[in-house]
Amino acid sequence: MHVIDAINQSKDIFISLEITPPNKGQSIEELFQVIDPLTEFNPAFISVTYHQPQVVYEERDGVIYRIPKRKKPGTVGICAAVTNRYKIDTVPHFILGGFSKFETEDALIDLHFLGIENIFAVRGDPAPGEKTFIPEKDGHRYASELVQQINKMNKGEYLEPLESAKPTNFCIGVAGYPEKHYESPNAQKDMAFLKNKVEQGAHYIITQMFFSFQVYKTFVEKAREIGIEVPILPGIKPISTMGQLSSLPRDFHISLPSELVEAMEGAKTPTEVRKAGIGYTKKLCEELIDYGVPGIHVYTMGKGTATQELLIQLFR
Ligand code: FAD
Repeated sequence: MHVIDAINQSKDIFISLEITPPNKGQSIEELFQVIDPLTEFNPAFISVTYHQPQVVYEERDGVIYRIPKRKKPGTVGICAAVTNRYKIDTVPHFILGGFSKFETEDALIDLHFLGIENIFAVRGDPAPGEKTFIPEKDGHRYASELVQQINKMNKGEYLEPLESAKPTNFCIGVAGYPEKHYESPNAQKDMAFLKNKVEQGAHYIITQMFFSFQVYKTFVEKAREIGIEVPILPGIKPISTMGQLSSLPRDFHISLPSELVEAMEGAKTPTEVRKAGIGYTKKLCEELIDYGVPGIHVYTMGKGTATQELLIQLFR
């Protein structure tokens, strides 16, 4: 099922999950162990992140070799395996880094043939070790261009003119940033670029994680004001360790409200810290549900225990 149909047809609040491929060399069983206990909450879909390879230079016998090293391969394979095992729709994330437009087209055809009809289109983070995002030669610079390419394929328009070309049928999600994308000069500009992604054909938006209901509400209101009408699913990260008080703001360019920080800092043991963090996340989700969000998209980040605790508190 297309994610947009799952959103529009859902009568009750639904949950969806984001999972991350295991590191190269690890077993997919580890991922199944994350998902298994979460199936009781009937996720409407599971999205799988995509990771750009890190480029390293290695010297062998006096010759320098440029070697792309992918730490977390397997996004598409995981989608197929998860759908096969759990009969849950999966959404591969699709990035620009490392792909020319032509490689993108071929990869999209692979997904189409596999029967995967949902795509989450993101630019991708700068490659590990690089400060800025560097587009591939003949690749796209912004996610909106990828959305446009997918949308054209949905109309049967491929990069080269093909006779009687069959259209694809992808449902497209894109990323939105309630606290602004870190490269944007201001929130207004960022919102205008988000609107462009929707105009190019995105069917729904999933937000970057945020920790204040007011931040989400203001973001949705501003989006509606400028004519963005598609569903905006809140992305939720159950926070559970002291380390995340600095790693989440550093890695995701988000802020943590004083109420949350003080609750976690005031806790005396790691168990109490976890309780404070997940308790806060639960309250945030309840505010979102009262506000009428169609669903909650939970970032598991490869570990399901905090997600499971949150979902038990919310729904069991
Ligand atoms: P874009 O929409 O292309 O925006 C990038 C920047 O360019 C923004 O500052 C935007 O305001 C600006 N911009 C957009 N259009 C224009 C224009 N025409 N002219 C000038 N400026 C413009 N990263 C991964 O590597 N793999 C993943 O699987 C992944 N999944 C994610 C899932 C979610 C829900 C979210 C929120 C993020 C995810 N990311 C992922 C991170 C994402 O790739 C980064 O945040 C990235 O820096 C931006 O991606 P984007 O698609 O929002 O980019």
